[in-house]
Amino acid sequence: MTETGVRDAQPGVQSDVVDAVVVGAGFAGLYLLHRLREAGFTARGFEAADDVGGTWYWNRYPGARCDIPTVDYTFSFDPELERAWTWSEKYATQPEILRYLQFVADRYDLRRDITFETRVDRAVWDDDAEVWQLRTSTGEEVRCRYYVMATGCLSVPKEPDIEGADRFRGTVLATSRWPHEGVDLTGRRVAVIGTGSSGIQSIPLIAQEAAELTVFQRTPNFSIPARNGPAPADRLERLRTDREAYREAGRWSGLGVPGEKTDIRGATAPEEVRRERLEAAWEAGELNAILGVFADQGLDPASNEIVSEFIREKIRSIVADPVTAEALSPRDHFFGTKRPCLDTGYYATFNLPHVRLVDLRRTPITTITETGVDTTEESFDVDVLVYATGFDAMTGALVGVDVTGRDGLTLREKWADGPSTYLGLMSEGFPNFFAVTGPGSPSVLSNMAVSIEQHVDWVTDCLVDLRDRGMTTIEPTPAAEAGWNQHVADCAAITLHPTANSWYMGANVPGKPRAFYPYIGGVDAYRAVSDEVRERGYLGFRLRGPAGEQRSDDVVRQLQPDVLAVLQTLEEQGVPPLESMPPAQLREFMDALNAARPLGPEVGEVVDGTLPGPAGPLRYRLFRPPSPGPHPVVLYFHGGGWVIGDEVSDEPFCRDLCVRADCVVVSVDYRHGPEARYPAAVEDADAALEWVAAHAIELGGIPDDLVVAGWSAGANLAAVVAQRARDAGGPALRGQLLLTPVTDSAMTTGSYRDNGEGYLLTAGLMRYFWDAYCDPEQRTDPAAAPLRGNLTDLPPAVVVTAQFDPLRDEGIAYAEALRAAGVPVEHVAARGHTHTSLTMVDVVLSGAPVREDLARRLRALFPEPAAV
Ligand code: FAD
Ligand code: NAP
Repeated sequence: MTETGVRDAQPGVQSDVVDAVVVGAGFAGLYLLHRLREAGFTARGFEAADDVGGTWYWNRYPGARCDIPTVDYTFSFDPELERAWTWSEKYATQPEILRYLQFVADRYDLRRDITFETRVDRAVWDDDAEVWQLRTSTGEEVRCRYYVMATGCLSVPKEPDIEGADRFRGTVLATSRWPHEGVDLTGRRVAVIGTGSSGIQSIPLIAQEAAELTVFQRTPNFSIPARNGPAPADRLERLRTDREAYREAGRWSGLGVPGEKTDIRGATAPEEVRRERLEAAWEAGELNAILGVFADQGLDPASNEIVSEFIREKIRSIVADPVTAEALSPRDHFFGTKRPCLDTGYYATFNLPHVRLVDLRRTPITTITETGVDTTEESFDVDVLVYATGFDAMTGALVGVDVTGRDGLTLREKWADGPSTYLGLMSEGFPNFFAVTGPGSPSVLSNMAVSIEQHVDWVTDCLVDLRDRGMTTIEPTPAAEAGWNQHVADCAAITLHPTANSWYMGANVPGKPRAFYPYIGGVDAYRAVSDEVRERGYLGFRLRGPAGEQRSDDVVRQLQPDVLAVLQTLEEQGVPPLESMPPAQLREFMDALNAARPLGPEVGEVVDGTLPGPAGPLRYRLFRPPSPGPHPVVLYFHGGGWVIGDEVSDEPFCRDLCVRADCVVVSVDYRHGPEARYPAAVEDADAALEWVAAHAIELGGIPDDLVVAGWSAGANLAAVVAQRARDAGGPALRGQLLLTPVTDSAMTTGSYRDNGEGYLLTAGLMRYFWDAYCDPEQRTDPAAAPLRGNLTDLPPAVVVTAQFDPLRDEGIAYAEALRAAGVPVEHVAARGHTHTSLTMVDVVLSGAPVREDLARRLRALFPEPAAV
């Protein structure tokens, strides 16, 4: 150890090489330096500013405050620090937060390792020496083994992208670079361009000083009153009684702030419940509350509209002039897809006689002039121009440095089409390079104090682990990184976010690649992933060093996020293994589960009836599309392992199929095992096909436009009756739609091994179903295992398989065997889905695009309707 308590550099590493360089001295950089030092690493910090603080150093505009309650937006790593600092307000001001970070820097003596007023401009990886070679704005060259960018997600202001911006001769200010000495705006004519959080916080205060204030608004934003005041007593009390439990609750919450998650859905909640929840969120003045009024508001446009309209109603109730109120009312994006704001008196400011709103959607800016702003309709002369125009968020500071990794690859090149990271922490090709709260991590969607601590802890723990294991480099594998990027995109795809032109989507900076930059799976889910990666020996990473090489190509999350959520919910509810229940109990259990699910989309008509079966009448339920008929007909057999289910058990899926494919869907019941064993179900299915084909016109169908379809065991029956109809010389079929079908009885495929546990349909449950359905010696019969039948001359097939389904491989085998027998086959492989998830209509939203795809392919099996 050296005198300062810092460990000597590692053996074999040149003495001028520091263990780590940390760029940035905001929340992230400060905590990093502290942890690295504590863990015995040598570290140097570089910061462009002349002091610590980061965001809170630069953004000194009037009204700048946090929008996460400060008791939560604070360090939690040291109880002593928490005891030593008391926040004065619910939402502290910028000066107070800056003082806090200065206090932290003093308390842990962090400034001594930071070189201020110095930018890191370039970083080049030397693969032979396994060091990063950095160059700073002062010309200093620094070598380090680990290079950590704690450079902030909102630290690079967006360049003014307005014609004539350099012509203005008055005072130009930017909220993100507000002069330290403050600005006296008394009696001056001020223009503010931009109505994001910075604009919305500063406008009421600027209005208090300015003689005239003109606000140039391109996009109105949603804002709710912050209701600032003393730090909330209930939170302080929880912190006082059990600080650690309170902090843990934040760490394991979705947003990084303790709070209850609701399962109330906006679309279905009674009006009085909606109203009560909305008013409560408005009164609470917290992002957590207004973003969590309904469970589905971020996913379902109808639910979102309830929240949006509520806020618009509030705007109308505050702003006196109806035209101004309407101009302030967001209508071009869903609530929450741009970061909502917390304000103090924002909307009421527009009632002041000297404040004017200019709606740039109606009258765009044509140019900035020497004396002010010209729009298509008017010229505005002003003394002061304030840009509140935002940031090159998430990636701006990272690609702002010339980072060159292995084999000359630059970060800018690699990210030219959008960022690519593993866990938002690292990027393949850039060994030993870390980003704190980088793209692909919850970062800006969370309480960043919590996310920063989590990342810093992960990075430091990782460096300690490497040291302990005799490893010197770490880098993600391409497979792991691609898997994570896919997961990040999957999570965003089911939300409303991709519809917005937000900075989350990179849409605010001209030319920036459009993608959803942060990870929306939640702070809790993300923490679980990062912990798992570490616990499983750095899953998805390649580690190298004198101790050897270790590589794991595993992909840490492949399930669609909502599929995972359903599985987790069932696990939390302690659902017993389904195969542990006798059939009667299993049927009751499934009925109860089905009773609680959404019914699926509206259809034109639902008709119940019976048709003659070999052992008595068979019930059916018919779903007719809203469009005028006649329609093609789909004869549908429900899933349930030939043991459970009936003509209504797959109703949401049947409705969905009916509407998407514009077909009549006739869902028929059949006899079940163990009471009526094989071949009872097959005989019933045969009879149903016979009858439906003969009664197509009465059912509102087009004669001969008939397809057999089914899910799981029902798909088994559909495949079987298609073979038997061919052998019997009819009825003629246009095709067969087989959704995750049972096609064989062997139960020995790779997917049985890989997915036999944990995805609801287990290998054990399939054995239970086969045993209830069919004697072992009958299971090779093609009417039980259609894969073993003659597959020539069958109607075209659409076969859908799910990645995490024990039946996946037999579905694929059936598609391949059909194709080999000359049958046209469309194979839809549903990535990240399970056997049951695709039919969970309106529960598993990520199933919708797959169902849309299969409906399109189903529709293509029928001839085009003749032009009228
Ligand atoms: P920063 O605080 O941005 O610090 C990064 C530092 O790196 C900067 O000081 C910068 O000068 C320096 N730097 C960058 N590149 C280089 C380089 N190449 N060389 C040298 N130095 C460099 N988040 C919340 O969770 N809650 C809030 O209430 C909240 N309010 C916010 C209000 C405003 C006005 C803004 C802009 C952001 C807000 N945020 C909020 C997000 C905020 O950025 C984070 O909460 C947090 O402060 C980020 O800390 P950081 O250390 O990661 O980055
Ligand atoms: P922002 O949300 O990106 O808002 C920028 C505003 O400027 C938008 O209204 C934008 O309009 C407008 N704009 C940009 N370019 C323009 C142009 N050429 N012409 C006209 N208008 C233009 O930026 P921000 O307000 O600085 O906030 C960024 C983020 O920082 C926030 O979302 C939040 O995460 C954080 N922040 C938090 C707080 C807080 O309350 N604690 C305060 C400030 C910032 P368009 O929408 O049409 O692009």
